[in-house]
Amino acid sequence: MNNHVTVLEIDGNALEHNLNYFKNKLEPTTKVLAVVKAFGYGSDGIKVASFLEDKIDYFGVAYTHEGVELRESGIEKPILVLHPQIQNFDAIVKYHLEPSLYNFKILRAFLQFADQHPLMNYPVHLKFNTGLNRLGLWHNDIPLILSEIKASDHVRVQSIFSHLAASEDANERDFTIGQINDFAAIVKKIYQHLDYEPMIHALNTSGVVNYSQAQFDMVRIGIGLYGFGNDAQETAQLKNTHTLSSIISQIHMIEPGETVGYNRAFVSKSFAKTATIPIGHADGISRKLGNEKGYVTIHGQKVPIIGNVCMDMLMVDISKIDCKEGDPVIIFDSQKTINNFAEASETISYEILTAISQRVKRILKA
Ligand SMILES: *Cc1c(COP(=O)(O)O)cnc(C)c1O
Repeated sequence: MNNHVTVLEIDGNALEHNLNYFKNKLEPTTKVLAVVKAFGYGSDGIKVASFLEDKIDYFGVAYTHEGVELRESGIEKPILVLHPQIQNFDAIVKYHLEPSLYNFKILRAFLQFADQHPLMNYPVHLKFNTGLNRLGLWHNDIPLILSEIKASDHVRVQSIFSHLAASEDANERDFTIGQINDFAAIVKKIYQHLDYEPMIHALNTSGVVNYSQAQFDMVRIGIGLYGFGNDAQETAQLKNTHTLSSIISQIHMIEPGETVGYNRAFVSKSFAKTATIPIGHADGISRKLGNEKGYVTIHGQKVPIIGNVCMDMLMVDISKIDCKEGDPVIIFDSQKTINNFAEASETISYEILTAISQRVKRILKA
C-alpha cells in the first residue's frame, strides 16, 4: 500500500471534459481511441482506463505488458498495442490484445503464430509509415502485404493506420497534408484488394485540432485527454488533469553564508528560512529545476527551488512565507504550472507528466 504524502491527483471530471471537447470536434460516428500508454501519460493507466471505458471505443498502449495490466484490472474494451514484439505474442493472444503489425518481420511472425495455434480472424492492425520514419510498413509493399494476409484466414485486418510527424506544427502543413494524402492512397489500394473494409485512423490530439477533415473512422487521443492542446488557446479550453502535491517535511533557519543541499549549491546571502519537500529527481522532478529555475507553491505563493534537487527531496526558500512543517505544497496544479516546469527543464508537457515516477501515490477523483 502506498501511503506516501506526495500525491498525484487525477481529475476525472477534467478527463471527461477534455474527452468531450474533442468529441465535439468530431463527427458523431467517429470512434475515439484513448491513448493510455506510459501509465496514462504518467497518471494511472488503470484508473484512467476504468474511468473512460464506457465513454470511448478503443484503448491504445505502447507495449504489450501495458495492455496485460489493463486486462488484469478488468478492462474489456479492445486494446491496440502500438509496439508489440514477437516475444510478446503469447501474452497478446492470452489477453486478447490487438497487435499493430508494423514491419514484414512482425507481420510474417504473427501470421505464422496465428496459423500454428490456430487463431481464427484474429484482429490485427496494419501500421503504415507515411513520413515519421519510426514504425510502419511501406506503401510500395502493399501487394506483397495483401497477398500474405489474404492467404490466411487466421487474422482479420481490424484497422489500417498511420501517424503524423508534425500535426501540431503549422509550418509543416504541406508535409502533413502529404502524409494524409499518401495514407488515403494506401487505404484506397488496400480497399480495392480486400473483400472487407478495415477501419482507418491517422490523427493524434493535434491532428484532431488541425486536420479534422482526416478523422476517418477513428482518432487516437493522448495528451489532449490530459489537458494539453495544440497551443495556448486550445489548452485554455481544456482542463488540467494532473495535480501533484506534497507537504513540508522540515523547516530550517539558515544563517548568512550557510549553504543548502548537495555540493553546497545554494549559498545564503542573508538569514533565510527553507523548507524540505519529499519529492526529488527520482520522482520525476528534473535537476534542471534546481537553483531557482523552478518553483512550487505554498499557501498560494511561489517559492523557488534552491540548490540541487536531490533524489528524494528538494528544498525551497520560504523566507517570505508564513508556514509550518506539515503544511501543504503544490508542485503543479494547472497547465500553466506544468508548462513552466517544462520550459524550465527544457522539455515538453508530455515529458513532465510521464516522468512522475511510480513511487508517487495516485488518486483519481471524479
Ligand atoms: C502516443 C501516440 C498517440 C497519441 O498522441 P498525442 O499527441 O498524445 O495525442 C497517437 N498515436 C500513436 C501511434 C502514438 O504513438
